[in-house]
Amino acid sequence: MTEKTLCILGSTGSIGTQALEVTRSLGLRLTALTAGSNAALLEDQIREFAPSVAALADEKAAADLRVRVADTPTKVLAGSDGVAECAGCGANTVLNAIVGIAGLEPTLRAIAAGSDIALANKETLVAGGSLVTAAVHEKGVRLLPVDSEHSAIFQALQGCPSPESVKRLILTASGGPFFGKTRAELQRVTLADALKHPNWSMGAKITVDSATMFNKGLELIEAVRLFNVPAERVEVLIHRQSVVHSLVEYRDNSVIAQLGVPDMKIPIQYALTYPERLPCPVQTLDLTRCAALTFEPPDDELFPAIKLARAAMRAGGLATAVYNGANERANELFRGEHDGAAFHATDSADRSVRAEQIRFLRIAELIEAALCAYTHEMHTQSGYTLGDVLDIDTWAREFVQSKSSGKE
Ligand code: NAD
Ligand code: MG
Repeated sequence: MTEKTLCILGSTGSIGTQALEVTRSLGLRLTALTAGSNAALLEDQIREFAPSVAALADEKAAADLRVRVADTPTKVLAGSDGVAECAGCGANTVLNAIVGIAGLEPTLRAIAAGSDIALANKETLVAGGSLVTAAVHEKGVRLLPVDSEHSAIFQALQGCPSPESVKRLILTASGGPFFGKTRAELQRVTLADALKHPNWSMGAKITVDSATMFNKGLELIEAVRLFNVPAERVEVLIHRQSVVHSLVEYRDNSVIAQLGVPDMKIPIQYALTYPERLPCPVQTLDLTRCAALTFEPPDDELFPAIKLARAAMRAGGLATAVYNGANERANELFRGEHDGAAFHATDSADRSVRAEQIRFLRIAELIEAALCAYTHEMHTQSGYTLGDVLDIDTWAREFVQSKSSGKE
């Protein structure tokens, strides 16, 4: 495995640091690393993995990093252009673990350079849609899922004889920290409550997305685009234990699931070694120590995220980019973040809890309002450019910002 070259985008985050553990254990060769603003951690990573190039999106932090690693051969680039340049460096595989729409352009650059994509950054597929899938098709590169549910489906599809033999994809969801709460209880929940995920340790944005269930809405759209199945054939089940990571139901009513401990290193490694299976530095699953495995339908009234994802898919055009952009801004507001400050706050070193700027239940209301405004006021297009996606993302963010002080 030593010859395969790898670029990791978002290497200082939750997925990024776990991807580096896998890189270390497999002895992969890293040629590029990028992050948002954490110069100290990226310095450590550069000293250990000696990539030929590295970048920080934050220009000031990049200047600091350049001084810190002046004694190494690693070239340091700055800004989002520097990140995109690293993504396009032509590594065999580019693992995209950036959070949010900031990952879209680097994904497109990596595809254009002919790299296989190991995709954790689901926002790339939700906002970019056919822009990404068409580029993957045109360049003939692989798009390999890192998200645990999509990796599970991908694994359960191995050996599938034809697309017609698949009846349904079933995505499992832990339900997050607020599963089972009443509306009255949800009116009082805080950011600190939302950051306490029962099963997974993840970056702040996706942890809040898990609490609102918008993570599962994003994943539904991601599944439709990765596996080319209509949204009506993708279902979601709440599975509190996070042992069954997702399932495929075939037309003979046989159901194939993938199980494992809730550790992202398994799907990360599978994306990097596919189709090989190699030893992985995670615990074995001891089924005798699992409590009962339970499955139940989600509550679409209290957590409308999945229903809204289906509506965005039906609306077509750039509605899923609106869904994503509105969610990113509403999520940031709930986390008390300034617009566009994502990379300052999302390095895993910085997990401080700020004051919420909106209440928890307001998140879904704002996203629903943005989707309504989009489908009523704007014409939906089927062909679009990266510029169109970024414009509609800005529109959705501004819409949410402008309505955020309104009545709940
Ligand atoms: P994180 O916040 O821990 O890390 C994000 C990384 O992206 C950091 O390295 C950060 O510096 C970098 N970054 C942030 N803004 C940037 C910008 N503007 N430009 C360049 N780099 C930037 O997030 P995470 O939990 O690792 O999640 C990363 C992605 O993986 C998300 O799309 C998330 O939905 C997905 N994902 C995460 C998990 C998980 O277990 N953490 C599981 C499945 C999918
Ligand atoms: Mg997931």
